[in-house]
Amino acid sequence: MSARTPRLPESADVAIVGAGAAGLMAGIWAGRGGAGRRIVLLDGARRPGAKILVSGGGRCNVTHDEVDASAYAGSSPHAIGKVLRRFDARRAAAFFCSIGVELEREEETGKLFPASGSARTVLEALLRAAKEAGAELHHPCRVESVTRAAEGFVLSGEFGLLRARRVVLATGGKSLPETGSDGHGFAIARSLGVGLTERVFPALVPLTLPPGHFLCALSGVSAPALLELWSGAGRRLASSAGAVLCAHFGLSGPAILDISRHVNEALHRDAGAALTVNWLPGTLAAELDRGLRQLPPADDGGARLPGPAPLRRDLRRGRQDRRLQLPVGLGERLHRGRVALRRTALRSPRARCAR
Ligand SMILES: Cc1cc2nc3c(=O)[nH]c(=O)nc-3n(C[C@H](O)[C@H](O)[C@H](O)COP(=O)(O)OP(=O)(O)OC[C@H]3O[C@@H](n4cnc5c(N)ncnc54)[C@H](O)[C@@H]3O)c2cc1C
Repeated sequence: MSARTPRLPESADVAIVGAGAAGLMAGIWAGRGGAGRRIVLLDGARRPGAKILVSGGGRCNVTHDEVDASAYAGSSPHAIGKVLRRFDARRAAAFFCSIGVELEREEETGKLFPASGSARTVLEALLRAAKEAGAELHHPCRVESVTRAAEGFVLSGEFGLLRARRVVLATGGKSLPETGSDGHGFAIARSLGVGLTERVFPALVPLTLPPGHFLCALSGVSAPALLELWSGAGRRLASSAGAVLCAHFGLSGPAILDISRHVNEALHRDAGAALTVNWLPGTLAAELDRGLRQLPPADDGGARLPGPAPLRRDLRRGRQDRRLQLPVGLGERLHRGRVALRRTALRSPRARCAR
């Protein structure tokens, strides 16, 4: 137990396992909901809330200016809709404002970040609000098991035993296990008879390509693209649009992260599934081919090239480099380039945990 926290009590009205974003919110609302209730938060990490600190590239976008059920995956739109009717983006923004986090809207994306530009502002405000609501945080206190008892539950771990009338499991997923969420919460849930989804897999990850794939050689180049995922039978399963970044291992960038969970699911079920990348979504393939065939000689600096600015720049460079031959039909290939993903197309998130 941390020296800064009070001694762990023998019993609690509500025990919350995990003090990340979800657990702290649960602690705040449970504490505010009933004066005199004993709310105990237990977290196995030395420094709870580490994932909040890495989110949004260390700036922690707490919500979006507009959010509806279509923005979520992993549950039914009906269930998500019910949650959003109780606590929508407007209420989330008002909540953060009420605990002292001034928010700023990012123009291009509509994401709401703390005006301080630091995720630490969010973590400190949540910890403060939980304390003010009367929730006690104890850490490091890893819960190894939760069992049912006559009047609730018994939680156990190296810290000993804690009896609780109610338990909230807020142990997070499996990403960045070094922040404390290593998936043990799933085992606890299962032991209590809670149903889990059939597969638990990472949902927002870059995709790997076979070594030597030509896109890996373009590492560092980023361009807006339309991604489409197809089943082996040719059915369009999902799409996403936005920046795609070529990396030495494969593809990354927001559009890739958005479609990665669908790619993972599709490859698991269907070895014939394929991802296509349209590098020039705003053009017609035939027009592009015509434009490419009409390109003036490579040394004509004033060439009018097709496509968006970053691609025009790269094409111009390519034309000046005589090693690059523009093949006939390139327009079609730029539109429907099939990316040969490996079956293990996912790359583990490598983000470091900022402490
Ligand atoms: C690199 C990265 C970037 C992200 N960027 C964004 C973003 O831009 N915007 C956004 O909205 N979200 C982002 N996220 C997602 C967001 O950070 C998470 O959805 C959110 O922090 C999850 O909160 P949580 O409380 O559910 O889980 P966690 O933060 O994982 O907290 C779970 C807590 O439970 C504790 N715990 C686990 N098991 C036990 C146990 N057995 N006993 C006791 N304690 C236990 C852990 O120590 C941990 O403190 C990002 C995530 C990552 C990894």
